[in-house]
Amino acid sequence: METFTLDDLRHWRLATTSPIRLGVLGDPVAHSLSPAMQNAALTGVSYGRFQISPNELAQAIQRMRELDFIGINLTAPHKVAAFSLVDEASAFAQQVGAINTIRFAEGKLFGANTDGLGFERGVRESFDVELRTLRVLVLGAGGGAGQAVAAQCAVAGCPAVALANRNPLKAHNLAQRLGKTGILAVPWSDDSLEEALAVSDLIVNATPLGWKPDDPSPLPADLLRPSHFVYDLNYRPTALVAAARDAGARAAGGLTMLLHQGALAFEFWFDQPAPLAAMRAALEL
Ligand code: NAP
Repeated sequence: METFTLDDLRHWRLATTSPIRLGVLGDPVAHSLSPAMQNAALTGVSYGRFQISPNELAQAIQRMRELDFIGINLTAPHKVAAFSLVDEASAFAQQVGAINTIRFAEGKLFGANTDGLGFERGVRESFDVELRTLRVLVLGAGGGAGQAVAAQCAVAGCPAVALANRNPLKAHNLAQRLGKTGILAVPWSDDSLEEALAVSDLIVNATPLGWKPDDPSPLPADLLRPSHFVYDLNYRPTALVAAARDAGARAAGGLTMLLHQGALAFEFWFDQPAPLAAMRAALEL
């Protein structure tokens, strides 16, 4: 599938039978599975892929508004910057401080963050457990996705949430912002991760470690136990998922989250249920 740029948007004359009125903006964006998943759900319009750098983001969104786009998704690194460009953001997006979805309507930009609920539904689908019953350790809690995961754990009412981030200040600030009993920042060191793992049911990898095939696991493998659920937001096979399965734990990659955040975005744009089966088939789930 073709990848478009800001320059293409400036000279937009797409005479296709299925005009592009939706899309994903990222830098990089070539890897995104969202076009295949969303196009499987759409009829009459289609969903494109847009390589947009951070300094082009505001212009690209403005141009899409002028071109009568229905909505867009934002992927890294645009989720925080886009939050400040919308006219209204959902209550959950305000809690996270980042958005992954915009709807253009009534001359305005409406922002939402579907990563949080998408994550909760992904965990339910992958493990057949309810997030609210689990003690959770979030690795990479300071990133865009990690913050949405942590906020969803707070909304769901998880009994304990440990937030670990390479830059500890971000985890500390997030714990303070979420401001709920049981949500604590923990240092990213072998000793404190070992302590946190001993009292966690679900371990979430929200770092990009696992994105590249030779990336190491973010955790020492010998800390994993058969009682753990391990959910890796990276959806290719990862060292962490392999180590967890070797340890007898239940482990899953992030395809189920990708599916559900995408279905929720579809519902945000069209106010109608997403064709989940078609989207699932496009991801070969
Ligand atoms: P991001 O905003 O760039 O955040 C990255 C996070 O990972 C930060 O907390 C960062 O820590 C940490 N990190 C980066 N490299 C690290 C390393 N070598 N060791 C330890 N920590 C490291 O990225 P994002 O948008 O949150 O995305 C994170 C991952 O989730 C990506 O791989 C993305 O593809 C995936 N994702 C999947 C879905 C899905 O639907 N399955 C949805 C969203 C994102 P510092 O703060 O210290 O830099």
